[in-house]
Amino acid sequence: MQFLNYNMRMEKTILKIKPHHFLDFLYDLAIDNRHNEPNPYNNNNGSLCRDFIDGKLTRIVFTPFVDDICRPCKKLIGGNRCIDYYDDATTLCYGFRYKNDFNYHADTKLNAALPSVFMFDVEQDMIDVLKALKERLTNEIINLYLWKRPEREKNTFVGIEKAIAHYK
Ligand code: SF4
Repeated sequence: MQFLNYNMRMEKTILKIKPHHFLDFLYDLAIDNRHNEPNPYNNNNGSLCRDFIDGKLTRIVFTPFVDDICRPCKKLIGGNRCIDYYDDATTLCYGFRYKNDFNYHADTKLNAALPSVFMFDVEQDMIDVLKALKERLTNEIINLYLWKRPEREKNTFVGIEKAIAHYK
């Protein structure tokens, strides 16, 4: 039983996440958005964002596919297919109807721009990823993720600094 509990605790510290979802966490940390409101999709965004902000997720693995946020989401079918779609300006501006396509496009571009950080399927220490992002992330790379938010670049770097303070 002790062994099982140990494994459960260890598992909880590893975050499997899409690169653009991780950029969202950094932005949320910068603006102190803990996502305390109920999530209409029932996904794990809020709880994992709070765990990240609280310094609980000490290891990280990037993926372009289903991540720990997606797993309980109402829009995930069969455990591997997101059926959410856009009915707003995103479709017209960026040419993506399905969120799955938009996300895959963003995540593979982020991976290609910074492969030593946003590498897929390799477990890394959170603090190493944060320090590498502080050194190597640029405004141009942040903007490969097309979704615009107020002062996105500045807030992403503020989030990195805050996260480094939590995880050092
Ligand atoms: S990408 Fe799709 S499945 Fe994942 S959290 Fe967003 S809506 Fe849900």
